[in-house]
Amino acid sequence: MRLIAGAQGSRVQLDGKEVLLLCSNNYLGLASHPALKAASAAALEQGTGSGAARLVSGNMELHEQLEERLAAFKGTERALLFNTGYAANTGIISALVGRGDTVFSDRLNHASIVDGALLSRATFVRYPHCDTAALEKLLSEKRGKGRCLIVTDGVFSMDGDIAPLAALVGLARRFDALLMVDDAHGSGVLGATGRGSGELCGVTGGIDVQMGTLGKGFGSFGAYAAASAEICDYLVNKARSFIFSTSLPPAVLAASLAAIEVVDSAEGARLRDQLARNAVLFKTRLEQAGFDTMGSQTQIIPVFVGPAETTMEFSQLLLEEGIFVQGIRPPTVPAGSCRLRCTLMATHTEEEIAEAAEKIISVGKALHVI
Ligand code: PMP
Repeated sequence: MRLIAGAQGSRVQLDGKEVLLLCSNNYLGLASHPALKAASAAALEQGTGSGAARLVSGNMELHEQLEERLAAFKGTERALLFNTGYAANTGIISALVGRGDTVFSDRLNHASIVDGALLSRATFVRYPHCDTAALEKLLSEKRGKGRCLIVTDGVFSMDGDIAPLAALVGLARRFDALLMVDDAHGSGVLGATGRGSGELCGVTGGIDVQMGTLGKGFGSFGAYAAASAEICDYLVNKARSFIFSTSLPPAVLAASLAAIEVVDSAEGARLRDQLARNAVLFKTRLEQAGFDTMGSQTQIIPVFVGPAETTMEFSQLLLEEGIFVQGIRPPTVPAGSCRLRCTLMATHTEEEIAEAAEKIISVGKALHVI
Protein backbone atom coordinates (compact mmCIF):
# COMPACT_ATOMS: atom_id res chain seq x y z
CA MET A 1 0.00 0.00 0.00
CA ARG A 2 1.04 3.57 -0.56
CA LEU A 3 1.57 6.49 1.78
CA ILE A 4 -0.90 9.28 1.12
CA ALA A 5 -0.50 12.68 2.78
CA GLY A 6 -2.81 15.68 2.82
CA ALA A 7 -6.60 15.90 2.89
CA GLN A 8 -8.52 13.97 0.23
CA GLY A 9 -8.61 16.87 -2.23
CA SER A 10 -8.06 16.70 -5.96
CA ARG A 11 -4.28 16.74 -5.42
CA VAL A 12 -2.47 14.77 -2.71
CA GLN A 13 1.06 13.73 -1.85
CA LEU A 14 1.61 10.07 -2.69
CA ASP A 15 4.86 8.58 -1.44
CA GLY A 16 6.15 12.15 -1.31
CA LYS A 17 5.12 13.14 -4.85
CA GLU A 18 2.16 15.35 -5.81
CA VAL A 19 -0.46 13.48 -7.84
CA LEU A 20 -3.96 14.09 -9.13
CA LEU A 21 -6.32 11.91 -7.11
CA LEU A 22 -8.76 9.93 -9.22
CA CYS A 23 -9.56 7.06 -6.85
CA SER A 24 -11.16 8.60 -3.77
CA ASN A 25 -14.83 8.19 -2.83
CA ASN A 26 -14.83 11.65 -1.22
CA TYR A 27 -17.25 12.58 -4.00
CA LEU A 28 -18.45 15.95 -2.72
CA GLY A 29 -15.13 16.94 -1.16
CA LEU A 30 -16.70 16.99 2.31
CA ALA A 31 -13.81 15.11 3.97
CA SER A 32 -11.97 18.41 4.29
CA HIS A 33 -15.00 20.72 4.59
CA PRO A 34 -14.54 23.39 7.31
CA ALA A 35 -18.02 22.77 8.80
CA LEU A 36 -17.29 19.05 9.30
CA LYS A 37 -13.86 19.73 10.76
CA ALA A 38 -15.24 22.36 13.16
CA ALA A 39 -18.06 20.06 14.31
CA SER A 40 -15.63 17.22 14.81
CA ALA A 41 -13.19 19.40 16.76
CA ALA A 42 -15.97 20.70 19.02
CA ALA A 43 -17.18 17.15 19.74
CA LEU A 44 -13.73 16.19 21.01
CA GLU A 45 -14.77 17.94 24.23
CA GLN A 46 -16.85 14.81 24.82
CA GLY A 47 -13.77 12.63 24.58
CA THR A 48 -12.15 10.61 21.83
CA GLY A 49 -13.86 7.26 22.32
CA SER A 50 -17.39 6.03 22.94
CA GLY A 51 -16.14 3.45 25.44
CA ALA A 52 -18.17 0.40 24.54
CA ALA A 53 -20.95 -1.03 22.41
CA ARG A 54 -24.24 0.83 22.84
CA LEU A 55 -26.06 -2.09 24.41
CA VAL A 56 -23.31 -2.12 27.06
CA SER A 57 -22.65 1.52 28.00
CA GLY A 58 -25.63 3.26 26.39
CA ASN A 59 -26.17 5.79 23.64
CA MET A 60 -24.37 9.11 23.54
CA GLU A 61 -26.68 12.01 22.65
CA LEU A 62 -24.82 12.30 19.34
CA HIS A 63 -25.74 8.70 18.39
CA GLU A 64 -29.42 9.50 18.90
CA GLN A 65 -29.21 12.90 17.19
CA LEU A 66 -27.51 11.43 14.15
CA GLU A 67 -30.00 8.56 13.89
CA GLU A 68 -32.93 10.98 14.11
CA ARG A 69 -31.35 13.24 11.49
CA LEU A 70 -30.66 10.29 9.18
CA ALA A 71 -34.23 9.00 9.50
CA ALA A 72 -35.61 12.47 8.72
CA PHE A 73 -33.18 12.80 5.81
CA LYS A 74 -34.15 9.42 4.33
CA GLY A 75 -37.84 9.76 5.18
CA THR A 76 -38.01 6.56 7.23
CA GLU A 77 -39.39 5.89 10.70
CA ARG A 78 -35.97 5.15 12.09
CA ALA A 79 -32.28 4.76 11.32
CA LEU A 80 -29.63 2.66 13.04
CA LEU A 81 -25.90 3.38 12.92
CA PHE A 82 -23.24 0.80 12.12
CA ASN A 83 -19.50 1.29 12.37
CA THR A 84 -18.78 0.71 8.69
CA GLY A 85 -20.63 -0.25 5.55
CA TYR A 86 -18.99 -3.65 5.75
CA ALA A 87 -20.30 -4.16 9.29
CA ALA A 88 -23.74 -2.89 8.25
CA ASN A 89 -24.12 -5.34 5.38
CA THR A 90 -22.86 -8.37 7.26
CA GLY A 91 -24.91 -7.44 10.33
CA ILE A 92 -28.17 -6.55 8.58
CA ILE A 93 -28.30 -9.48 6.18
CA SER A 94 -27.34 -12.12 8.73
CA ALA A 95 -29.99 -10.68 11.08
CA LEU A 96 -32.83 -10.52 8.56
CA VAL A 97 -32.43 -14.02 7.12
CA GLY A 98 -31.15 -17.38 8.31
CA ARG A 99 -31.26 -21.08 7.58
CA GLY A 100 -34.29 -21.96 5.43
CA ASP A 101 -34.51 -18.42 3.97
CA THR A 102 -33.19 -17.23 0.60
CA VAL A 103 -31.07 -14.23 -0.38
CA PHE A 104 -31.32 -13.07 -4.00
CA SER A 105 -28.25 -10.99 -4.75
CA ASP A 106 -27.09 -9.19 -7.90
CA ARG A 107 -23.97 -10.90 -9.25
CA LEU A 108 -21.97 -7.64 -9.03
CA ASN A 109 -22.96 -6.74 -5.47
CA HIS A 110 -20.27 -5.59 -3.07
CA ALA A 111 -18.21 -8.21 -1.21
CA SER A 112 -19.74 -7.22 2.14
CA ILE A 113 -23.19 -8.23 0.83
CA VAL A 114 -21.82 -11.59 -0.29
CA ASP A 115 -20.18 -12.08 3.11
CA GLY A 116 -23.40 -11.13 4.91
CA ALA A 117 -25.37 -13.62 2.86
CA LEU A 118 -22.84 -16.41 3.48
CA LEU A 119 -22.76 -15.61 7.20
CA SER A 120 -26.56 -15.80 7.38
CA ARG A 121 -26.59 -19.45 6.24
CA ALA A 122 -29.59 -18.67 4.05
CA THR A 123 -29.63 -20.15 0.56
CA PHE A 124 -27.60 -17.76 -1.57
CA VAL A 125 -28.89 -17.15 -5.10
CA ARG A 126 -26.99 -14.79 -7.37
CA TYR A 127 -28.91 -13.34 -10.33
CA PRO A 128 -27.28 -11.95 -13.50
CA HIS A 129 -26.35 -8.28 -13.20
CA CYS A 130 -29.46 -6.04 -13.21
CA ASP A 131 -31.43 -8.78 -14.99
CA THR A 132 -34.90 -8.45 -13.47
CA ALA A 133 -36.42 -11.02 -15.86
CA ALA A 134 -33.93 -13.63 -14.61
CA LEU A 135 -34.61 -12.59 -11.01
CA GLU A 136 -38.36 -12.93 -11.57
CA LYS A 137 -37.84 -16.47 -12.84
CA LEU A 138 -35.65 -17.37 -9.85
CA LEU A 139 -38.19 -15.92 -7.42
CA SER A 140 -41.03 -17.86 -9.04
CA GLU A 141 -39.02 -21.10 -8.89
CA LYS A 142 -38.24 -20.73 -5.21
CA ARG A 143 -39.45 -23.63 -3.13
CA GLY A 144 -40.19 -23.80 0.58
CA LYS A 145 -41.65 -21.42 3.08
CA GLY A 146 -38.67 -19.34 4.18
CA ARG A 147 -38.32 -15.56 3.99
CA CYS A 148 -36.89 -13.98 0.82
CA LEU A 149 -34.51 -11.02 0.76
CA ILE A 150 -33.59 -9.25 -2.47
CA VAL A 151 -30.43 -7.22 -2.06
CA THR A 152 -28.68 -4.92 -4.49
CA ASP A 153 -26.11 -2.16 -4.66
CA GLY A 154 -27.90 1.09 -5.59
CA VAL A 155 -24.81 2.21 -7.51
CA PHE A 156 -22.47 -0.64 -8.42
CA SER A 157 -19.12 0.18 -6.91
CA MET A 158 -16.88 -1.06 -9.72
CA ASP A 159 -19.18 -0.30 -12.69
CA GLY A 160 -20.88 2.96 -11.75
CA ASP A 161 -24.25 1.86 -13.10
CA ILE A 162 -27.54 2.10 -11.21
CA ALA A 163 -29.74 -0.83 -10.17
CA PRO A 164 -33.23 -1.09 -11.76
CA LEU A 165 -34.86 -0.13 -8.46
CA ALA A 166 -38.41 0.45 -9.72
CA ALA A 167 -38.56 -3.08 -11.16
CA LEU A 168 -36.97 -4.54 -8.01
CA VAL A 169 -39.57 -2.85 -5.81
CA GLY A 170 -42.29 -4.37 -8.01
CA LEU A 171 -40.78 -7.86 -7.76
CA ALA A 172 -40.32 -7.59 -3.99
CA ARG A 173 -44.00 -6.72 -3.55
CA ARG A 174 -45.21 -9.42 -5.94
CA PHE A 175 -43.17 -12.18 -4.35
CA ASP A 176 -43.53 -10.93 -0.78
CA ALA A 177 -39.78 -10.44 -0.42
CA LEU A 178 -37.89 -7.83 1.59
CA LEU A 179 -35.84 -5.40 -0.49
CA MET A 180 -32.53 -4.01 0.73
CA VAL A 181 -30.50 -1.43 -1.20
CA ASP A 182 -26.85 -0.67 -0.42
CA ASP A 183 -26.49 2.95 -1.44
CA ALA A 184 -22.87 3.43 -0.37
CA HIS A 185 -22.08 5.35 -3.56
CA GLY A 186 -25.42 7.12 -4.04
CA SER A 187 -26.02 8.56 -0.57
CA GLY A 188 -25.60 12.32 -0.49
CA VAL A 189 -24.73 12.28 -4.16
CA LEU A 190 -27.65 11.12 -6.31
CA GLY A 191 -31.18 12.46 -6.66
CA ALA A 192 -32.30 16.08 -6.67
CA THR A 193 -31.77 16.37 -2.89
CA GLY A 194 -28.99 13.79 -2.44
CA ARG A 195 -31.22 11.12 -0.89
CA GLY A 196 -29.58 8.61 -3.19
CA SER A 197 -30.38 6.12 -5.93
CA GLY A 198 -33.90 5.53 -4.54
CA GLU A 199 -34.71 9.21 -4.97
CA LEU A 200 -33.22 9.19 -8.46
CA CYS A 201 -35.45 6.23 -9.40
CA GLY A 202 -38.47 7.67 -7.56
CA VAL A 203 -38.95 4.66 -5.29
CA THR A 204 -37.65 5.43 -1.79
CA GLY A 205 -40.96 4.29 -0.25
CA GLY A 206 -40.72 0.79 -1.69
CA ILE A 207 -37.33 -0.11 -0.21
CA ASP A 208 -37.53 -1.95 3.13
CA VAL A 209 -33.92 -1.33 4.18
CA GLN A 210 -31.91 1.56 2.79
CA MET A 211 -28.32 1.02 3.80
CA GLY A 212 -25.89 3.88 3.25
CA THR A 213 -22.37 4.80 4.23
CA LEU A 214 -21.06 8.02 5.77
CA GLY A 215 -17.43 7.67 4.66
CA LYS A 216 -17.89 8.45 0.98
CA GLY A 217 -20.21 11.24 -0.24
CA PHE A 218 -20.67 12.42 3.36
CA GLY A 219 -16.92 12.74 3.94
CA SER A 220 -17.08 11.25 7.45
CA PHE A 221 -17.12 7.59 8.58
CA GLY A 222 -19.63 4.89 9.43
CA ALA A 223 -22.88 3.58 7.98
CA TYR A 224 -26.59 3.26 8.67
CA ALA A 225 -29.73 1.30 7.97
CA ALA A 226 -32.79 3.50 7.37
CA ALA A 227 -35.95 1.43 7.80
CA SER A 228 -39.14 0.97 9.80
CA ALA A 229 -39.05 1.12 13.61
CA GLU A 230 -39.82 -2.59 13.64
CA ILE A 231 -36.82 -3.51 11.48
CA CYS A 232 -34.46 -1.16 13.37
CA ASP A 233 -35.56 -2.54 16.75
CA TYR A 234 -35.03 -6.03 15.45
CA LEU A 235 -31.53 -5.16 14.19
CA VAL A 236 -30.55 -3.68 17.59
CA ASN A 237 -31.14 -7.07 19.14
CA LYS A 238 -30.08 -9.32 16.29
CA ALA A 239 -27.32 -7.70 14.18
CA ARG A 240 -24.11 -9.04 15.68
CA SER A 241 -21.87 -6.34 14.17
CA PHE A 242 -24.02 -3.79 16.02
CA ILE A 243 -24.25 -5.70 19.29
CA PHE A 244 -20.66 -6.80 19.69
CA SER A 245 -18.67 -3.77 18.54
CA THR A 246 -17.67 -0.47 20.18
CA SER A 247 -19.84 2.31 18.77
CA LEU A 248 -18.72 5.29 16.69
CA PRO A 249 -16.91 8.05 18.63
CA PRO A 250 -18.26 11.59 19.10
CA ALA A 251 -15.96 13.38 16.63
CA VAL A 252 -17.11 11.07 13.84
CA LEU A 253 -20.79 11.38 14.77
CA ALA A 254 -20.57 15.17 14.83
CA ALA A 255 -18.85 15.27 11.43
CA SER A 256 -21.65 13.11 9.99
CA LEU A 257 -24.32 15.43 11.42
CA ALA A 258 -22.55 18.44 9.90
CA ALA A 259 -22.24 16.57 6.58
CA ILE A 260 -25.99 16.02 6.37
CA GLU A 261 -26.54 19.76 6.87
CA VAL A 262 -24.18 20.53 3.99
CA VAL A 263 -25.75 17.86 1.76
CA ASP A 264 -29.18 19.32 2.55
CA SER A 265 -28.19 22.92 1.78
CA ALA A 266 -27.86 24.98 -1.40
CA GLU A 267 -24.14 24.26 -1.23
CA GLY A 268 -24.89 20.52 -1.33
CA ALA A 269 -27.02 20.98 -4.43
CA ARG A 270 -24.23 22.98 -6.06
CA LEU A 271 -21.65 20.30 -5.22
CA ARG A 272 -23.90 17.55 -6.65
CA ASP A 273 -24.36 19.54 -9.87
CA GLN A 274 -20.63 20.12 -10.14
CA LEU A 275 -19.92 16.43 -9.56
CA ALA A 276 -22.43 15.40 -12.22
CA ARG A 277 -20.94 17.90 -14.69
CA ASN A 278 -17.41 16.67 -13.94
CA ALA A 279 -18.44 13.05 -14.47
CA VAL A 280 -20.06 13.80 -17.85
CA LEU A 281 -17.07 15.85 -18.99
CA PHE A 282 -14.60 13.08 -18.13
CA LYS A 283 -16.69 10.22 -19.48
CA THR A 284 -17.49 12.00 -22.75
CA ARG A 285 -13.83 12.76 -23.42
CA LEU A 286 -12.78 9.14 -22.78
CA GLU A 287 -15.60 7.71 -24.89
CA GLN A 288 -14.77 10.09 -27.74
CA ALA A 289 -11.23 8.70 -27.63
CA GLY A 290 -12.59 5.16 -27.99
CA PHE A 291 -12.61 3.85 -24.40
CA ASP A 292 -15.37 1.60 -23.09
CA THR A 293 -16.74 3.08 -19.84
CA MET A 294 -18.83 -0.03 -19.18
CA GLY A 295 -22.25 1.59 -18.88
CA SER A 296 -21.33 4.01 -16.10
CA GLN A 297 -24.18 6.37 -15.18
CA THR A 298 -22.53 8.09 -12.22
CA GLN A 299 -19.32 9.57 -10.84
CA ILE A 300 -17.74 6.09 -10.80
CA ILE A 301 -16.29 5.72 -14.28
CA PRO A 302 -14.54 2.46 -15.14
CA VAL A 303 -12.19 2.36 -18.10
CA PHE A 304 -12.26 -1.15 -19.53
CA VAL A 305 -8.84 -2.69 -20.16
CA GLY A 306 -9.36 -6.49 -20.03
CA PRO A 307 -6.21 -8.39 -18.98
CA ALA A 308 -4.87 -7.92 -15.44
CA GLU A 309 -1.23 -7.27 -16.46
CA THR A 310 -2.13 -4.47 -18.90
CA THR A 311 -4.44 -2.92 -16.32
CA MET A 312 -1.76 -2.82 -13.63
CA GLU A 313 0.80 -1.47 -16.10
CA PHE A 314 -1.72 1.19 -17.18
CA SER A 315 -2.17 2.29 -13.57
CA GLN A 316 1.61 2.33 -12.96
CA LEU A 317 2.32 4.40 -16.09
CA LEU A 318 -0.39 6.87 -15.09
CA LEU A 319 1.19 7.22 -11.68
CA GLU A 320 4.49 8.08 -13.34
CA GLU A 321 2.51 10.80 -15.18
CA GLY A 322 1.13 12.09 -11.86
CA ILE A 323 -2.33 10.50 -12.03
CA PHE A 324 -3.36 8.22 -9.16
CA VAL A 325 -5.99 5.72 -10.28
CA GLN A 326 -6.28 2.07 -9.28
CA GLY A 327 -6.33 -0.91 -11.59
CA ILE A 328 -9.06 -3.34 -10.47
CA ARG A 329 -8.68 -7.06 -11.06
CA PRO A 330 -10.07 -10.37 -9.70
CA PRO A 331 -11.41 -11.15 -7.17
CA THR A 332 -12.88 -7.65 -7.05
CA VAL A 333 -14.15 -7.93 -10.65
CA PRO A 334 -14.64 -10.99 -12.91
CA ALA A 335 -11.56 -12.27 -14.79
CA GLY A 336 -11.11 -10.64 -18.20
CA SER A 337 -12.93 -7.47 -17.13
CA CYS A 338 -10.04 -5.69 -15.41
CA ARG A 339 -10.35 -1.94 -15.49
CA LEU A 340 -9.18 1.37 -14.16
CA ARG A 341 -11.75 2.57 -11.65
CA CYS A 342 -11.86 6.35 -11.93
CA THR A 343 -13.86 8.32 -9.39
CA LEU A 344 -14.70 11.96 -9.91
CA MET A 345 -15.09 14.54 -7.17
CA ALA A 346 -16.91 17.87 -7.11
CA THR A 347 -13.58 19.46 -6.22
CA HIS A 348 -11.85 18.47 -9.48
CA THR A 349 -11.43 21.46 -11.78
CA GLU A 350 -12.14 21.32 -15.51
CA GLU A 351 -8.40 21.66 -16.14
CA GLU A 352 -7.64 18.71 -13.86
CA ILE A 353 -10.26 16.58 -15.59
CA ALA A 354 -8.84 17.47 -19.01
CA GLU A 355 -5.31 16.70 -17.78
CA ALA A 356 -6.37 13.30 -16.40
CA ALA A 357 -8.31 12.39 -19.53
CA GLU A 358 -5.48 13.35 -21.89
CA LYS A 359 -2.95 11.32 -19.91
CA ILE A 360 -5.27 8.29 -19.83
CA ILE A 361 -5.75 8.59 -23.57
CA SER A 362 -2.04 8.86 -24.24
CA VAL A 363 -1.14 5.84 -22.05
CA GLY A 364 -4.13 3.92 -23.46
CA LYS A 365 -2.77 4.45 -26.97
CA ALA A 366 0.75 3.42 -25.95
CA LEU A 367 -0.63 0.18 -24.48
CA HIS A 368 -2.95 -0.40 -27.48
CA VAL A 369 -6.06 -0.34 -25.30
CA ILE A 370 -7.53 2.13 -27.81
N1 PMP B 1 -21.00 -1.33 0.05
C1 PMP B 1 -20.44 -0.87 -1.07
C2 PMP B 1 -21.23 -0.91 -2.33
C3 PMP B 1 -19.14 -0.37 -1.04
O1 PMP B 1 -18.56 0.06 -2.16
C4 PMP B 1 -18.44 -0.33 0.18
C5 PMP B 1 -17.05 0.24 0.33
N2 PMP B 1 -16.23 0.27 -0.68
C6 PMP B 1 -19.05 -0.84 1.31
C7 PMP B 1 -20.35 -1.30 1.22
C8 PMP B 1 -18.34 -0.86 2.63
O2 PMP B 1 -18.41 0.39 3.23
P1 PMP B 1 -17.31 0.84 4.30
O3 PMP B 1 -16.13 1.27 3.51
O4 PMP B 1 -17.96 1.92 5.08
O5 PMP B 1 -17.02 -0.39 5.13
